[in-house]
Amino acid sequence: MAHVLTIIGTRPEIIKMAPLIPLLDDAFEHTFLFTGQHYSQNMVEIFLDEMGLRRPDAFLDVNDSDRDRLEEGIRAWLVGRHFDAVLVYGDTNSTLAAARAVPKEAKLVHIEAGIRSFDSRMPEEFNRIEVDRLSHYRLPPSGLGRYFLTDFEGIDPDTVEVVGNLVVDAYRQNRERILSAPLDDGLSPRGYHLLTMHRAENVDDPKRLKAILDNLARLDKPVVFPVHPRTEARMREFGLEFPVNLRILEPLGYYRFMRLMHDCELVITDSGGVQEEAVTLGVPCITLRDNTERMETVFLQAAVLYDADHRNDLDVVAADMCARRDVIRSLKNPYGEGDAAQRILRFLQDKLAG
Ligand code: UDP
Repeated sequence: MAHVLTIIGTRPEIIKMAPLIPLLDDAFEHTFLFTGQHYSQNMVEIFLDEMGLRRPDAFLDVNDSDRDRLEEGIRAWLVGRHFDAVLVYGDTNSTLAAARAVPKEAKLVHIEAGIRSFDSRMPEEFNRIEVDRLSHYRLPPSGLGRYFLTDFEGIDPDTVEVVGNLVVDAYRQNRERILSAPLDDGLSPRGYHLLTMHRAENVDDPKRLKAILDNLARLDKPVVFPVHPRTEARMREFGLEFPVNLRILEPLGYYRFMRLMHDCELVITDSGGVQEEAVTLGVPCITLRDNTERMETVFLQAAVLYDADHRNDLDVVAADMCARRDVIRSLKNPYGEGDAAQRILRFLQDKLAG
């Protein structure tokens, strides 16, 4: 039986890989390694518990997002171990560290391959391009990723397979529990917006961060904001204050967060996964960025890009997007129908047979 290793290290990777890991456990000799890029209870443990995921076979406890230290930790752990295939997800520092550390004889499989923002300032863009180059097989979430890989970058089409996005599987599998999670006190359906923000280009630059906060202050509804640890640290460092219409929360568990998304009027985000979840739930989205590697959402006008550095009309854009809600709800999901885990499994079984 083929021996497969999965390496992940952050909150979004746990959420998205949760539907696939049990299938890998059943079909292969499967080892699950967690790098510890994210490490706090509210960024890791709560997601392993809520997604019903078994404990990783090994926790590296790197407790750091530094790519070189992650790579060193993974390399050291791999010594004396042999795997036929190694699965990595997305574009985090753990993903690239794992891709670099894996010995050449193991087949490296990249899930969420091929997505591109064409923004070379983004560390994630650097990571995803290199991981795709190092991979044996690339599994993009939609046809757009396939196009970028094969037609733009000249990658062999036989190594590329569109599988959909595991974010849809995760939502579908947990829908009942999400809908039975209570809505936070004082909030009514469509009576608030939901915000997430943590990308380096938004929160590491005090001028940009201030411009975003000033834009958010223009909204006439409460904005629920579970604050990512990185954003919290930068707010303190820069001595900035949140506008009074923001309801500040700790990072939330998946059920409570998705319940808030389900019932909000509008999602405002710079998160990759949240852009995908918004279109999956049919909720209008303002993407707080100049570009996105989730262009499917923009082509469908389920999301709009918003460059807060050069604009101060977030209230107007919010009203426009909210008016599109019914159209957005009726769209076919560009990220598939929730069968990505099955499609990935079939692909692996086919490639690793014998
Ligand atoms: N998420 C969550 N609680 C929160 C904020 C986000 O459960 O307070 C989930 C969200 O549903 C999505 C994922 O975390 O599945 C997105 O993670 P993040 O924004 O950290 O990463 P990205 O997708 O940008 O890589």
